[in-house]
Amino acid sequence: MSKSKNIPLAIPDINDEDISAVTTVLKSGMLVQGKKVNQLEEELNLLAGSKHCVTASNGTATLHMALKCLDIGPGDEVIVPALSYVATANVVELVGAKPVFIDVAINALNINVSLIEQHITAKTKAIIPVHEFGYPADMDEINRLAKKHNLFVIEDAACALGTKYKGQHVGTLSDFGSFSFHPRKSITSGEGGCLLVQEKRFADKLRILRNHGIDAEKNAFVDAGFNYRMTDFQAAILISQLKRFDKTLALKRTLVDRYKAQLEDQDILFTKEEEGFEHAWQTFHIILPDYIDRDKVITLLREEGIGSNYGAQCIPALDFYLGKYQLDSKLLYPNALRAYQKGLALPLYLGLKEEEIDFISKTLINILANEK
Ligand SMILES: *Cc1c(COP(=O)(O)O)cnc(C)c1O
Repeated sequence: MSKSKNIPLAIPDINDEDISAVTTVLKSGMLVQGKKVNQLEEELNLLAGSKHCVTASNGTATLHMALKCLDIGPGDEVIVPALSYVATANVVELVGAKPVFIDVAINALNINVSLIEQHITAKTKAIIPVHEFGYPADMDEINRLAKKHNLFVIEDAACALGTKYKGQHVGTLSDFGSFSFHPRKSITSGEGGCLLVQEKRFADKLRILRNHGIDAEKNAFVDAGFNYRMTDFQAAILISQLKRFDKTLALKRTLVDRYKAQLEDQDILFTKEEEGFEHAWQTFHIILPDYIDRDKVITLLREEGIGSNYGAQCIPALDFYLGKYQLDSKLLYPNALRAYQKGLALPLYLGLKEEEIDFISKTLINILANEK
């Protein structure tokens, strides 16, 4: 019976309206960055309470552009959490700067703000906090340190559309807020991303960098830029999805509450929302007990037709970073390493049924009992 179950980790939420929004653009003949991109940028500003929005081809291009926009490069250091998706550190490498890793707090999986200041040097130019899995980092403390030491802040909010910190949408609380529209995020155009920006001079420079270094107002090539534009059909699909975004968030919360109720008494860690920290639940992520072999759990769940995966990476422990910096994650980033090795993302998507959550939870509890 259970062998016939097929519950994937995630299913992108694309409906007929989204599809017809795309075909309308395809038939119009205007494919790249045009009216729909402009409309999307306005709508994202409105949703987040942001002054400027610059869309881009993905949520790595956005981080890369933000660093370029700040002229961060060789000789500079950028503070990043040790636990994230690897792109957060890769972009620092790509501009020739050095990522300085900080361990995360185990209860929130975000950068441990009490460890930041001791890592700030004369070379430090910026902090990139990540709102991991859609849970906000402690922005007040990060901004206080940034102000004190004259640093820029780029929020990696790739997973955090809908996330609020003390009532404000994340990504608007610092110099830049970077979002991704990859299929694993809450709204998706396949590939896509955007930066929320509060200063016009930055937004202007980003628009130039995004489009080959062309200054549209002056009609001149003023910089060596990228082609990081979004297409109009991607924008159309996102505009269509935004119409039901509030509903999507609320539904996900209901599903997560069901998981929490069933897994609460287990030897499992998951993020508890603190006052003023509003989770958007891009991922429902748990940390298994130390005695459990997480990869075996993934295999056993798969045998029952349940998709799961590790959540985020302990970046300094990955081959490239380990080879280059030789940092002992066990010693320096114990929480990031624990979350990387014992972390598990469970199925969460619209259309996931309550009885499926019950089945997943029961199966997981049985596995843990057997493996003890
Ligand atoms: C997904 C993700 C990215 C990269 O976004 P893409 O659109 O896939 O390039 C960057 N940072 C974090 C934290 C992410 O989760």
